Amino acid sequence: MAGTGIRTRFAPSPTGPLHLGHAYAAAVAHHLARAAGGEFLLRIEDIDHSRARRAWEDAIYDDLNWLGLHWDGAVMRQSDRAPAYRAALQQLWDKGLLYPCTCNRRDIEAAASAPQEGVPHFGPDGLIYPGTCRHKPRPAAMPMDLPLRLDMERAAIATCFVEQDRHVYTSVQDYITGVGDIILSRRGMGTSYHLSVVVDDAEQEITLVTRGADLFDATAIHVLLQHLLDLPTPAYHHHDLIRDESGKRLAKRDDARAIAAYRAEGATPAQVFAMIGITPSAA
Ligand code: GLU
Ligand code: ZN
Repeated sequence: MAGTGIRTRFAPSPTGPLHLGHAYAAAVAHHLARAAGGEFLLRIEDIDHSRARRAWEDAIYDDLNWLGLHWDGAVMRQSDRAPAYRAALQQLWDKGLLYPCTCNRRDIEAAASAPQEGVPHFGPDGLIYPGTCRHKPRPAAMPMDLPLRLDMERAAIATCFVEQDRHVYTSVQDYITGVGDIILSRRGMGTSYHLSVVVDDAEQEITLVTRGADLFDATAIHVLLQHLLDLPTPAYHHHDLIRDESGKRLAKRDDARAIAAYRAEGATPAQVFAMIGITPSAA
């Protein structure tokens, strides 16, 4: 299994059934690993306790096995990883890069549309945070019961890297004005999507992250976090999103496209792969 050392992963959230788009993402990661004699890992992204369900997780295992997309080693479950996320947050806190924020969505909308702010700006996570809580006195110890934001100005200047890599914003200013102070720890979660993905890709020693082009902007955030946390940056491959017959992007929540629905209708794995333009030998 060691092979060339290439390691990819599929990282679904167990909040609903796997769809054709998921099958495509999993097949890309699986194929690139297998073609290189490398490994394909599975990670369950279940940090959102209000939406993740064990039954959906079991359905993911079932669908992947049915598709023949077998994974290597133990499955990583993000709900088991709270101490690792906390340690990463502590590292950032100790560098003075995090601050607690108690603004709700309405506070943020109001502050962002205040006349002196000009037009509200949107980044990969939606409305760019207007910085209301950034300059409040910070407590001595990191509070775990409050949302924590990354002080992007300090973070971008601290890394000060300008790479000619197309996955990375090339200027500190782009991070500050185009991304802003993103949330790294959400209330009741102790982490966020961005933080947990970065910490876990490093822990699973992923060398090649394959993901949809819709996550292109998130990748820039992840590369910045890797620099801040002294973690290696894997290679990134952003694949096209699956479209339906009319060229429209398949919605993640279109249950008519669930693998389980095709299975129930008697489709074979080869037929499901054919629907997403993959010949079985390439999966
Ligand atoms: N869990 C994310 C999703 O299903 C993808 C993981 C990633 O590539 O960051 O959209
Ligand atoms: Zn705030």
